[in-house]
Parts: sequence; C-alpha cells; structure tokens
Amino acid sequence: MIRETLIAALQSAIGPEYVLHRPEELMLYEYDGSALDQAMPDVVVLPGSTAEVAAAVRVAANMGVPVVARGAGTGLAGGTVPDQGGMVISLARLNRVLTIDPDSRTAVVQPGVVNLDLSLAAAPYGLHFAPDPSSQRSSTIGGNAGSNAGGPHCLKYGVTTNHILAATLVLADGGVVRLGSSATDAPGYDLLGVVVGSEGTLGVITELTVRLTRNAEDVRTFLAVFDDLEAAGACVSAIIAEGIIPAALEMMSGEGIAAVEASVHAGYPPDARAVLLIEIDGLREDLADEAKRIAAICTASGASDLRAATDAAQRARLWAGRKGALAACGRIAPHYHIVDGVVPRSRLPEVLRYSEEVAARYGMKVVNIFHAGDGNLHPLLLFDLRVPGTRERAIAAGEEILKACVAAGGTISGEHGIGIEKRDYMPWLFSAQDLGVFADLRAVFDPAGVMNPGKLLPRVIG
Ligand SMILES: Cc1cc2nc3c(=O)[nH]c(=O)nc-3n(C[C@H](O)[C@H](O)[C@H](O)COP(=O)(O)OP(=O)(O)OC[C@H]3O[C@@H](n4cnc5c(N)ncnc54)[C@H](O)[C@@H]3O)c2cc1C
Repeated sequence: MIRETLIAALQSAIGPEYVLHRPEELMLYEYDGSALDQAMPDVVVLPGSTAEVAAAVRVAANMGVPVVARGAGTGLAGGTVPDQGGMVISLARLNRVLTIDPDSRTAVVQPGVVNLDLSLAAAPYGLHFAPDPSSQRSSTIGGNAGSNAGGPHCLKYGVTTNHILAATLVLADGGVVRLGSSATDAPGYDLLGVVVGSEGTLGVITELTVRLTRNAEDVRTFLAVFDDLEAAGACVSAIIAEGIIPAALEMMSGEGIAAVEASVHAGYPPDARAVLLIEIDGLREDLADEAKRIAAICTASGASDLRAATDAAQRARLWAGRKGALAACGRIAPHYHIVDGVVPRSRLPEVLRYSEEVAARYGMKVVNIFHAGDGNLHPLLLFDLRVPGTRERAIAAGEEILKACVAAGGTISGEHGIGIEKRDYMPWLFSAQDLGVFADLRAVFDPAGVMNPGKLLPRVIG
C-alpha cells in the first residue's frame, strides 16, 4: 500500500512515463558493475530537471523512503545497489553539456553526461576532461563525482575532485544548494570537497561546473614487456623515484594479457608475465629526453622488450587494450571481483605476489589490471558464481588482499569507493571517534538518513 502511494505521488510529481515500477523494469536497476551485490528497488524515477529531482526526493523523504542516485551504474562497490529498497533516481535524462567556455577552460554539464562525451565536446577547443576512468565510454560525470573516480591519466592530472569547481546539490529534504565556485579559493567551508566522493550519501548532484584541461602538444606511448611480475612492479617505483611523472603508468599481468590480445588485438605479447603501458606528454622538445630515461629504467628493471607506438592509430590500439581489459577477462571466467586497494608504490611487488598467493589458496584465477603509478592495485579475482560458495570465497579472498594493503601502509579504496563492499572494513582505518564525526557530518546534510543509507559507513559505528 505504501509502495502504491509512493508510486502515485511520484507519478504526479514528475509524470507517469518517468516512474518505473514493474518488476521487469526494476530488474535493470538491481545491480552495478560488480557481480557480488544485488537488490531490487521499489521504484525508479527518471527526472528531467533539478526541480524534478527535488520534487521526487521530497516525496521519498516525506515517506521515509531511501533515495539512491544512479549514473550509469558502472560502480564496482555496490554504491547504487538499493539494498534497503526504496527509490533509485536515474540521472540518465540529465545528459546535456550545457556550456563550454574555452577562455576560462570550464564547462557546465548535467550529471548524466557520459565522461567521454564531455571530452569529445571539448575537443574542437583543444581541451578535454582529464579524469578518464577506464569506464569512460559509459560512466557519467555525476557518477565520477559521486565516487571521486580516478583513471589512467589521474597520476599526472589529479582525480575527479581536482576537476570539479562547483555543483548544484539536491538535499535530502528536497532543498537545493549551490556548492563551490568557478572562482578559485572560495571562502567558507569546502562543502564541495565533502560532497565529491560521498557516494550519494549527502544529496543528489544535478549540475556540475568542471575544469577542462588543454591537450598536450605531444604524447608518446610505450609498452614495456616483462617476464617477471615483481620486476614490473619495481619498474613502476623506479620511474617515479627518478622524478618522472608519466601522464599514465598502467600495469597488466598474467592471463589477462592474452585475453586482451585475443579480444582487442592491441599488440600485447600474449605470453608476457606483465606489461606496463607508459605514456608521457608535454612539450615536444622535452619528451625525447624523457623517453630515453624511461627506456633506460625499463631495461635496468629487466624489461625484455620496449615498444613505442609510432602513430595515433597504434597508440589508440594500446589504449583500447587497457580500457577493454575488464570486458576481455570475460573470456577467462564469467564473473569477477575487482579488489580496489592502494599501497605505497615501493610495496607493489610484494603485495602483488601476495594477491596471487591468496587467489591460489581460494582456488581462483587472478589478473592484475591497474593504475600502477599511483599505487592503485586491482587484483581481479575471476570465478563462476554458479559454483556454490564462490561468492563467499571471493569476498573472503578480497578481504585478505585489502588487509594486506592496509598492513603495507595503504588503504581500502583507490577509486571505486566504499559502497556496500567495504563499508564494514572502515574500522580498519578509522577509530570509532573518526567514524562518529563522519556520521555527524552526514546527519547535517541528511538528518533522517534517507540518502543512500547503509553505504560508505559501517553498519555499526563504535
Ligand atoms: C570496465 C570498468 C572500468 C572501470 N574503471 C574505473 C577506473 O579506471 N577508475 C575508477 O575510478 N572507476 C572505474 N570503474 C568504476 C566506475 O566506472 C566508476 O566508479 C564511475 O565513476 C562510476 O560512474 P557511474 O556513472 O557508473 O556511477 P554509478 O555507478 O551510477 O554511481 C557511483 C556512485 O556515485 C553515486 N552517484 C551517482 N550519480 C550521482 C549524482 N548525480 N549525485 C550524487 N551521487 C551520485 C552513486 O549513488 C554511487 O554511490 C570502472 C568500472 C568498470 C565497469
């Protein structure tokens, strides 16, 4: 009965055609990009403006119904999975680039704009949106902000939060606030900084002003091939220790390389133990010297081969391999669990080795595909969920690997966020008092606790 009342109220607030409530419609919204958590919402709304988002949130809040913001649903931590039921707000209809200002190098966009579409829209001005998650062909700017996404080029250019200047936020009671400013150093509390990466727990972002980055004059891309996993890991730290900050420094290991080659034909040697995709960009005259230094470090670290992309097409193929890697692993097993840990770069080799030991102990294949330059580690555990007990084993294996990351001085999320997956691991990093401050902050934005409840913070604090 409550559900019927909710649906009727939403239909009158934003129009019946934008309120989905039949089981076959809701099924599309019961999962995100990970295979481990699923839950059906009671209703899904597709508002077409900030005012409609606010109206829908007001209806839900008045009835004490959970509100889950959803971009493309490519998140990997269960952030959009409505495990307490309630209303999913899809931002899919808010998908317009509103303005691009080449002089100030900014754009105003709606949250449902697909990441790559923004860079394509900015390309005629010689600009792009720098945060480039490997999901950039499908993930949205709103979702990138919700999860504070990283990406291959974030090593040099910074993660999403460094590229968001202002946002419009619909609060839990349906109120609308504007956070941040196009001007630098806005006075007052940095509430925008708090909201970016808050995984939909503080409100729904309905508009963003973002920074655009000038395209580099020149780019060089290399593939370094290794017969030894730890040597590849050590090469990553050697490059950074040398004072070079590549535009991107990505690593891939094991069977994943062959799977990528078979599916994308990117030019990766299928029998390599590990490959590094290294990109440098900047002024043409600087790059020749930097390329020589990188070649010397790769050779000294034991690379068996170093290939340079000779033209834009080859470069695009190398990147297609990296960005299509997750999908390509579907050739190895039907399901995966990406463990999103971070370690100090110097500890990469040992934690990589450990992740292989853990996977073997749990009887799972593992492939590492990750933004190695920033110490982000993504062991991809591969399995078949149809085998009984697999889900539990995948979760237990992931937990062991994340514990090792924390023990090595790292943390439990490099970019995918906490979501459902890691909410109960937060006490590994934060004291009860720390978590209490998080909960208090959340309550200021959302006293009734309706915005994406149960995500990000542990279920029991203290
Ligand atoms: C193949 C693949 C590769 C990936 N590569 C990367 C990578 O390189 N780097 C990386 O960081 N991630 C990566 N991811 C994870 C995911 O793509 C990112 O987290 C991305 O930012 C999510 O965007 P989305 O639009 O799909 O958001 P969703 O999954 O829909 O949402 C993500 C979170 O943000 C919240 N949210 C969404 N929209 C809003 C809004 N308008 N207001 C407030 N909160 C909101 C949601 O509630 C949720 O908690 C990858 C995923 C896949 C499947």
